[in-house]
Amino acid sequence: PGAPKELYSPQDPLALLDSRSLPRALNNSASAWLLEFYSSWCGHCVQYAPTWRVLAGDVKDWEPVIKIGVLDCANEVNTDVCKQYGIQYYPSFRFFKAFTKEFTQGENYKSGAEHDVQTVRQVIIDFLQNSPAESKPPACPSLAPIESSQVESLIAVKESHYTAVIYESPDSYIGREVILDFVQYEGLVVKRALDTDKEALQKLGIVSVPSCYLIYPNGTHGLINNLEPLRSLFSSHLKSLPGVRKKTLSRPELTTKPTKPDKMTETWKEFDKSKMYMADLESGLHYLLRVEVATHQMLKGDELKAFKDFITILYKLFPGRPHVARLLETLQDWLVSMPLDKIPYDAILDLVNNKMQISGIYLTSHVQWVGCQGSEPGLRGYPCSLWKLFHTLTVQAALQPNALTNTAFEGNSQAVLQTMRQYIKHFFGCRECAGHFESMAKESMDDVKTLKEAVLWLWSKHNKVNKRLAGAASEDVKSPKVDWPTPDMCPACHGEVKGVHNWNEEEVLVFLKKHYGSKDISLLYSD
Ligand code: FAD
Repeated sequence: PGAPKELYSPQDPLALLDSRSLPRALNNSASAWLLEFYSSWCGHCVQYAPTWRVLAGDVKDWEPVIKIGVLDCANEVNTDVCKQYGIQYYPSFRFFKAFTKEFTQGENYKSGAEHDVQTVRQVIIDFLQNSPAESKPPACPSLAPIESSQVESLIAVKESHYTAVIYESPDSYIGREVILDFVQYEGLVVKRALDTDKEALQKLGIVSVPSCYLIYPNGTHGLINNLEPLRSLFSSHLKSLPGVRKKTLSRPELTTKPTKPDKMTETWKEFDKSKMYMADLESGLHYLLRVEVATHQMLKGDELKAFKDFITILYKLFPGRPHVARLLETLQDWLVSMPLDKIPYDAILDLVNNKMQISGIYLTSHVQWVGCQGSEPGLRGYPCSLWKLFHTLTVQAALQPNALTNTAFEGNSQAVLQTMRQYIKHFFGCRECAGHFESMAKESMDDVKTLKEAVLWLWSKHNKVNKRLAGAASEDVKSPKVDWPTPDMCPACHGEVKGVHNWNEEEVLVFLKKHYGSKDISLLYSD
C-alpha cells in the first residue's frame, strides 16, 4: 500500500500542524488551542474526521479566542513531536491555554472519547470559563450571565450598536455560544441572562427560554419572535441585522469592482430584501451586454460559443418584460442566422442599441440598482445582479422543464450552470472570482443530475462564496455576507441536527422557486 491518505486538507477550516509549526503556533499564542492528534491510518480517526471538520467550521468565528488544529502522528516527520507530547492513543484531544510559554503537554479532555460537535462546543466553553485570568484570551468576552438590573440599564440608554440578551436556564450553553459567535463582529453586543428572576422575565414578555431579547441602537427593544430557539438560528438572524458585520480581515481580500465603475444613483431607494426587482436584472443585462462583453472586440471560437449559448438561455428562460424578451429573441435569431466563425462585437452592439429605435424592442441603457444597491460606490451592483440573474435562470429552467426543447440544451440539466460557467470563464471582469468559480465548478458541477439539483448547486456555491467573503473589503455593511436565505426569510429552511446547523434542502428549493420565480419580480423603479 502507498502512503496513507491525508484525512485533512488545507481547504479545511482548521490549522494543519506539524513538528515545526506546532511549537510556533502554541508559544505565547493570544488564543487558546484545541488540537486533535490523530493518525491517518487509525479507523476511528478516519471516521471521526468529518465531525472534527464540521466542528472546526462551526466554531470558526471563535478563532480569536480558540483555534482548532490537527497533527498527523502517522507522518514520520511528526514521530518525535507526538512522543514529546505523550500521545499514545489516537485520536487524542488536548487543550492549550493562551500565553503558554513553557513546554506543556496540554490538557486532555475526556480520555480520547469521540464526541459530537455540540458536546465539544460545550467542553470548549467549560475550558474557557475554567481558565485562570492570566491565560484568558484577550478576545474572549465575558461569558458570565448579567443581572436583570443590568438588562434594565441597557434598555435605558441609546447605543451605537444593537444589544442582544439571550435569556436561558443555568444549564443552557446557547447564550455563551452566541456570545462567542460574535467575537469577530461589530455592530452588536451579545449578553446572556438567566431565567431565575421570573418577575423581570414577565416584564419583558418572555414566556419561554431560551429567548433572544433585542435592544436596537435607537433604544427600541423587543423579543425576537418566530425563531426556533436554537443557537444557529439566533446567530444567523443577528448576523443579518443591518449594520452588523464581520470586522474587516487584516489580510488583503479580493475586491470585486466591475471593470468600469457603475454610475452611482444619488438617492437611496427603499427596497424589500425579500423581493426581486426587474430593475436589477435589466441593469445587469445592460451592463453585461454593453460594457462587460463589449470589452471583447471580436468574438470567436469558445468565446463566441459561450456568448451564443448564453443568449439562447436568456431568450428561452429570462422572465423579461415583452420589450426585453423581443430584444433577446432578435439577438438570438440574428446570431443563429450568422454562419460566421467570428463576429465583431460592434455588430452585436449595433443590434442591441439600434433596436431601441424600433418601437417596442429595447433594453434600458443605464444602471438602476434597487435590491442590488450598494451603500457606497463600488459595492454590490453588477456582481449582485449577475448572481440574481443566474439564480433566476436555474429556477426558471426547473419551473419550465420543456423550455429548452429543440435547442442544443434539450434534456441537459446542467444547461444553465454550464452556460454560466462559460460566461464567467470568458467574460466576467473579476478574474479572481472567475478562477474561484471555475474551481468550484470543476469540483462538483458534473454531479448535478436534475434541474432541481442545479438550483440547489448554485445556491450552495453562492453560500460558500458568501462565507469566504464575510468581512472582506467588498462586503457592504447594509448587506452582510451571511448564509442565505436568513431564518427570518425562510424559517423552515433552517434546523439543527445534533446541535449543528442543518439546511432543509426541500424547503430551500421551495423558497428559491418562489423567490426567483417570475411572479415575485417587482417592477418598482423600472424604466
Ligand atoms: P451577492 O453575493 O452578490 O448576492 C446577491 C443577492 O443574492 C443577495 O443580496 C441575496 O438576495 C441573494 N443571495 C445571497 N446568497 C444567496 C444564495 N446562496 N443563493 C441564492 N441567492 C443568494 N467577490 C470576491 O471578492 N471574490 C470572489 O471570489 C468572488 N467570486 C464571485 C463569483 C461569481 C460567479 C460572482 C457572480 C460574484 C463573485 N464575487 C466575488 C462577488 C461577490 O460574490 C458579490 O457578488 C459582491 O460582493 C456583491 O455582494 P452582495 O452583497 O451584493 O451579495
